[in-house]
Amino acid sequence: MQKIGLIGGMSFESSAVYYRMINESVRRRLGGLHSAEVLLHSVDFQTIVDLQKAGCWPEAAERLSEVARSLEAAGAACVLICTNTMHLVAEAVETAIKVPLINIIDETAAALNAAGCKRPLLLATRYTMEHGFYADRMATRGIDVLIPEAEDRTRVHDIIFTELCAGTIDPLSRTALEEIIVRGKAAGADSVILGCTEICLILDPDHLSLPGFDSTRIHADTAVDLALADHLREAA
Ligand code: GLU
Repeated sequence: MQKIGLIGGMSFESSAVYYRMINESVRRRLGGLHSAEVLLHSVDFQTIVDLQKAGCWPEAAERLSEVARSLEAAGAACVLICTNTMHLVAEAVETAIKVPLINIIDETAAALNAAGCKRPLLLATRYTMEHGFYADRMATRGIDVLIPEAEDRTRVHDIIFTELCAGTIDPLSRTALEEIIVRGKAAGADSVILGCTEICLILDPDHLSLPGFDSTRIHADTAVDLALADHLREAA
């Protein structure tokens, strides 16, 4: 089994979900008490949030590239940036290492395409919804992303940063997100991307008014596929 490198801490609430999902997936696939070989470098999220707010994306790219290099040096066979938002700098991080960077946008697009969904509503941070990097990359993969209206974007962004990343789950916010999905459906969405790695803490992708695609689960599962590929080939 190969080692999975996680750039985490953005926020640690979602890194804990990644850790559990990856380990549960390995145990399910290999049986017994098997668990994943994971290298986690968890950053101080406040320092990243400060860079986001100041629009200092090159500095953020350099910081995450340093972390990616240290994971590679420690033996990681692949690296994951455990947040959708910071995929804004994924291309820079990718060039800093030789092992594959598993891109959450590409993997989520692949899952949408496999399910025949072409017009997903994107629930994410303001950066992910408004900077264009996410929708543009999805467009190159045949996916036409629908972004919520301005007021709804503010609501989703605030729920992520003031509640989910801070460890709070508020049922009123769950209802607000469900209502945003209903409006997305009325606007023509055929599915919904949980495009922030904390949203699975408040919404169950399998119980929404549209088919749900949880970016955290998709990303974690892809890492396990890669980590176990040789192992399963040898066992076959
Ligand atoms: N984890 C979140 C995401 O997937 C938000 C935290 C961040 O800004 O990195 O976008």
